[in-house]
Amino acid sequence: MLEKNRLRIALQKSGRLSSESYNLLIKCGIKINFQHNQLIAFAENMPIDILCVRDDDIPGLIVDKVVDLGIVGENVLEEKLFIKDNVKKKKFYNLLIRLDFGICRLSLAIPKNSAYYGLDSLKNKRIASSYPNLVTQFFYKKSIPFKLCILNGSVEVAPRAGLADVICDLVSTGTTLEANDLKEVQTVFNSQACVICRLGHIENSKQIIINKLMNRINGVIKARESKYIMLHAPISKLNEIISLLHGAENPTILKLAGEKNRVAMHMVSSETVFWETMEKLKSLGASSILVLPIEKMLE
Ligand code: ATP
Ligand code: ZN
Repeated sequence: MLEKNRLRIALQKSGRLSSESYNLLIKCGIKINFQHNQLIAFAENMPIDILCVRDDDIPGLIVDKVVDLGIVGENVLEEKLFIKDNVKKKKFYNLLIRLDFGICRLSLAIPKNSAYYGLDSLKNKRIASSYPNLVTQFFYKKSIPFKLCILNGSVEVAPRAGLADVICDLVSTGTTLEANDLKEVQTVFNSQACVICRLGHIENSKQIIINKLMNRINGVIKARESKYIMLHAPISKLNEIISLLHGAENPTILKLAGEKNRVAMHMVSSETVFWETMEKLKSLGASSILVLPIEKMLE
């Protein structure tokens, strides 16, 4: 049974966002016992219930206030909550944070052998897409007429099947387009997974849990981007070494036993450390350079 005073979070049941969404909650310390094919899972250590649904249903569940939070792609949000001719965009949810996964773009693609000289070449063409609202909005703004062919799957085969001249579909690496002899010509919308919160009054007890969860999600994201760096360095080159490590703040300098001219440096960097940087550090005299992942971070 769903209890009213427990926070409800909707996640995609199975698909591209599922495992990263579940893992994010688990990294936030929520103990959930997921059973295969279960619609609802209950957290054991926090007053949180998880609803496992199709991603397309998440915007509606938020608008109808059935759930308090949801993790969903911005593409689905925009498509589902788009209202034709809405001049003043009505607010349906609060976007709390972008999660840096589920990164993709909704793009227009045409057969490789078709000529393309800008968007005008798509005038009056048949465009197949599962995103009728986003496509319509895009072409409406450009004042380019087109014919819409709504398909809910296998959009990429539409040109070969003679159903459409152009497709508008989600792309991440481009391999699906490549495999179907299509070329990407224009991005329509950039997307990633995000946490959204319903509008309206939220009980204090629930708001406390939301705040706690959002702090932890922030910590997980920060930790994912950050690295712990340890190295030994000649004292004479400390400044040059620090300036190479962008995003590293206030390094800790430690004495090295039996060494007068070298010290150990420990620091957290908010950026990935590339091999090129490590090689430069080495050429400045640094040694024993370690770059470690950080699991959690609370500032
Ligand atoms: P459901 O059964 O939940 O409706 P689905 O088939 O609509 O699932 P998925 O293919 O699992 O959806 O994609 C879910 C979301 O993952 C997309 O809406 C998008 O935000 C994101 N995504 C990231 N990369 C891609 C990609 N290359 N192709 C499709 N979606 C992607
Ligand atoms: Zn879907």
